[in-house]
Formats: sequence, C-alpha cells, structure tokens
Amino acid sequence: MLTGLHLAVIGGDARQLEIIRRLTELDAKLSLIGFEQLDHAFTGAVKEKMDEVDFSNIDAIILPVAGTSLDGQVDTIFSNEKVYLSKEILLETPAHCTVYSGITNSYLSGITKKADRRLVQLFQRDDVAIYNSIPTVEGTIMMAIQHTDFTIHGSNVLVLGLGRVGMTVARTFDALGAHVKVGARKTEHIARITEMSLTPFHLKNLEEHVKDVDICINTIPHMIVTASVISKMPSHTLVIDLASKPGGTDFRYAEKRGIKALLAPSLPGIVAPRTAGQILANVLSRVLKEDLQSRKG
Ligand code: NAP
Repeated sequence: MLTGLHLAVIGGDARQLEIIRRLTELDAKLSLIGFEQLDHAFTGAVKEKMDEVDFSNIDAIILPVAGTSLDGQVDTIFSNEKVYLSKEILLETPAHCTVYSGITNSYLSGITKKADRRLVQLFQRDDVAIYNSIPTVEGTIMMAIQHTDFTIHGSNVLVLGLGRVGMTVARTFDALGAHVKVGARKTEHIARITEMSLTPFHLKNLEEHVKDVDICINTIPHMIVTASVISKMPSHTLVIDLASKPGGTDFRYAEKRGIKALLAPSLPGIVAPRTAGQILANVLSRVLKEDLQSRKG
C-alpha cells in the first residue's frame, strides 16, 4: 500500500487516469493538477490548481510520459489552463521528493538537477519500454494501413534500429507477412536479426537498401533518414518515424520530394491509452512502494 504518500499528478492524457486509479486504490493521497475538466472523481484525489498545492508535503511529482516542454510547460488535455513546472516549485518540495516522467529533456533534467531532486525516467527501464513497444507497434500497423493502398503482407518493410521498439516492430511486421529488412550498426544486432530469420544490413549501407522499400519504419532518435537516403526511395514509400521528437527523418526534404513521411509520437497513448496507462501504473506503484520502504529504512 502507499498509505501516507502525498503525490502530485501534473497533467497528462488518458494514460494518467489509469495511474490515478491505481495509486488511489493503493491509498496514496493525490493532488491532481491540470484535471479541471475531468468529470470523473477519484476517492483520495483532489483537483487543485498549481498555486493551491502545498508542495512542502509532496513526496513525489508524477508527470506525463513526455515530461515537460523545453520551456517547462506540462501537457494537460483535461484543462484549458497552461501548467508549468519550474525549479522554484521543486525547491518548495521536501528533499526526498522524486519526479517521475516517461522521458526527459534539457529543461526537465536541468531544473531537477539545479533543485537537487531525483528524476526517474520510466521509459529508460527495459520492462516499461518493452511492454510499451506492444501498443506502439499496434499503432504503427494502424498508420501503415491508413496511409498505404497496398497490404503489409508481401510489402518490403525496412526497420531502422534493433532496440526495444525496433525488435517488436520487425517481429510483428514479419508475422504479418512483410519482407522485413532491419538496419543496425552493432555486430550483435546483425547477428540477432539473422537469428530472427530477417534480413540484416549495416546502417552505413542504408542508401543501397531503400531502393525497393515500401514502408520505412525508423526507431533511431538521430538523423538517419537523410535527404540523400530519401532521394533513393521509390516515390510511393511511406516513412513512419517512431523516434522521439524531432525524429530521425529529414521531413522537409521528404515533403519536397513528395514522399509521405510521418512523425508518429505517443502511439500507445493514442491507440491503447488504457493498456499504456496500466503499464505505467504497474511500474510506478512498484517503484513508489520501494521508495517508501527504503525511506522508512
Ligand atoms: P532503444 O532500445 O534505445 O533503441 C534505439 C535504437 O537506436 C538502438 O537500436 C540503437 O542502436 C539505435 N541508435 C541510437 N543511436 C543511433 C545512432 N546514432 N546511429 C545508429 N543507431 C542508433 O530505444 P527504444 O525503446 O527502442 O525507442 C526507440 C525510439 O522510439 C525512442 O526515441 C523512443 O522515445 C521512441 N518511442 C516512440 C514511441 C511512439 O509511440 N512513437 C513509443 C515508444 C518509444 P545501438 O544499440 O547501436 O546504439
């Protein structure tokens, strides 16, 4: 149980509702900031405005998956008011207060460092990233179907990166009957791709492998689908870029060449917010319990 913990849940989308539900079930006390327009009420959770919260009592701050923007704004789909997290707010919290986010950026890492508060990025955890890759791939399939006039089955699919998302993408598109090639730069990844009975190639040879690609799915959060790469693709190629913003595709050049290239962030929150929220709720409740126990000694 999380009895005695006071948590501030700041902003977020439908995924956050699963987290709120789970944490209130576990008896945590919740301050919900940026949820004025949410009709549902949760026992043990109070909707508050940022300036109404007494942060000196807050044991942990729970941010949405994206954390904050580069100017500190937190996305709040259940509110019309803009909500910002600042170093000053963090300094009001007790020293043990931990900030939980999916990912971070220079702003969020900067204010937590300056305020000397611990920042936990849930998506750095392999378990969260692997579970989350399941709704991500379902969303990718949805996009591939919506934006093509051919079947996935029998099409040439290029997957860039064999990380936690890339592996699930490659395996799932293979299971749907696509001809899947996977680009990676590590020899162990090339070996794993071979073991999966898929076609591996080294990323340095990417340009050679896009000549007959129907769907190119990027999971590498660095510029990889460059203008030069795009210039070698057939004109009907669909590029789905799953990497976190700004993605790894030269979208400007793709548009100029008439190649459809889509940055597709937060697919789990779009196609399966309940499952995606449950994934986060499971791990958050476990981590918060561990933190509570370690503080009690
Ligand atoms: P990951 O496990 O860290 O995998 C990243 C992959 O990119 C690895 O194969 C890595 O290879 C490769 N890579 C990184 N930098 C590279 C570079 N400079 N050149 C070549 N390869 C490079 O990450 P993940 O969990 O799979 O997530 C991948 C991306 O998808 C992240 O940006 C994540 O935020 C995003 N994501 C998006 C959604 C969505 O809905 N769109 C959902 C989940 C995750 P090495 O091992 O060789 O470095």
